[in-house]
Amino acid sequence: MLKIFDLCKIIQRGPMTLSQIREQAEAWGIFPNSIQSLEGSTLFMIKQDKESFLVVVHPGKVYAAFEGEELIAGGAKLCKKSSTNSKVLRAHFPYTAPISHKGHAITLGLGDRLGLASVGHLRLIKDYPVFPILAQQSIRELNLTNRTYDEVLNAASWAVFQEGYTKGFGADGDHLKTEDEIYMALAHSFTMITLDCSEHIDNTVSSMSKEAIEIAYKRLPENYRQKIEGMFKDKTFQLKSGETLFFDTETFMEIALIYGKAIDYTITLYGKCLASLGKAIDFEMSIDETLTPTTAESHFFVASLLIDGGVDITSLAPRFCGEFQKGIDYIGDSAQFEKEFAMHAAIAADFGYKISVHSGSDKFAVFPIVGEKTAGEYHVKTAGTNWLEAMRVVARNDPALYREIHQFALVHLPEAKKYYHIGADIEKIGDIMAMSDEMLPLLMDQNHARQVIHITYGLILNAKDSDGRYLFKDRLYALWQRYENDYAQALIVHIGKHLEYLGVAPV
Ligand code: ZN
Repeated sequence: MLKIFDLCKIIQRGPMTLSQIREQAEAWGIFPNSIQSLEGSTLFMIKQDKESFLVVVHPGKVYAAFEGEELIAGGAKLCKKSSTNSKVLRAHFPYTAPISHKGHAITLGLGDRLGLASVGHLRLIKDYPVFPILAQQSIRELNLTNRTYDEVLNAASWAVFQEGYTKGFGADGDHLKTEDEIYMALAHSFTMITLDCSEHIDNTVSSMSKEAIEIAYKRLPENYRQKIEGMFKDKTFQLKSGETLFFDTETFMEIALIYGKAIDYTITLYGKCLASLGKAIDFEMSIDETLTPTTAESHFFVASLLIDGGVDITSLAPRFCGEFQKGIDYIGDSAQFEKEFAMHAAIAADFGYKISVHSGSDKFAVFPIVGEKTAGEYHVKTAGTNWLEAMRVVARNDPALYREIHQFALVHLPEAKKYYHIGADIEKIGDIMAMSDEMLPLLMDQNHARQVIHITYGLILNAKDSDGRYLFKDRLYALWQRYENDYAQALIVHIGKHLEYLGVAPV
């Protein structure tokens, strides 16, 4: 490979057209889809010493805007993917900034906890009618990975530039619970806000007696009771799909008590933080992380009151029947899921928003139902599976490191279980020290091993030795950078399988 200095000289001496540079891209180690020209400057991404950089050639307005090491005085700069440069990039190349996904039928959350997955995601979805939410991270994930929303978004912006993907992407502040968290996500230009109201849902109501429910209901303010009674009590609603919903007095009171506070909380926060922003925001209400599966009546009740309260819902995430455990297939009765999901989809369609499926990694048993019952309009969130594919790359290319990490994960599993609920049985994984190297990548096809590695990601990435050095993180990132294309390929295959089961065909 030519040294960057020589390369910049050649381009500068030029004049070379972008397609001439593109022809030479591979020989020069340039990412071919990143080559751009702007106001007389030529820009592209290059890989050097395992890291990728932006190179800006020729002086000009954009040349001055990027910070970096000058390779040729006043003529060529090597720029890191710093926070400052990320902002400059987004300002000059608007397609590298996130946008609202309103109007896109199929939207896919592609959480990237490592800041390395978007390249593979883009190489896949560029051929599909899918709008990607490349930056998607919950506060829990931010804490466990020690990242900020700035870093999450920057990783997505650079991947978009490197791959030359100009069709737009979103940024989801996932499972936000407070006003401060919403403002934080908005301050980092996030375009989707997922409000998690689980703490305001009263799970005790379902075990209350009829009398206790009646008493608790009568304690609600009278004007509020009058309003909701007028809207729902003893009323039947017919959906456009032909199905009907009926609110008998008992069901009605129970729903009002379970969801009342969550609805008020959502209306208040939406009104305060989002209603008058003056730009398009995709708002999602999530009630998925709760004990009680959301009934069709509850869904209808919640949505009606949110809309009545001025909330513009882009998507809503019910808690479905069965189990949506992280990183493994659906556990439960898929016939019952189909029946209930069809109702949720019909309600969402009538109100004009999308159903959002959380913990959507690897839910192959129900994906065909999601695709079909929504008539191809839905949001699905994945995250953990992208991390697991990264660990598959480790198992394939450095078996010793993989074994070390796996042992660590087993030891620290009880800690991780505080954050995530899983049903894994570690006895069923087998003795990984006795396993052949060839068997290790196959562990990522086995639910027990998947779950153990899935939920320990934060502990694995943050583990330090007594001298304060990372136990695994630096070695892992060095490996992932070296095998960047392998990781991209693994994601193309695995997320590709998600699309296939959802019934999405390439365009
Ligand atoms: Zn969720």
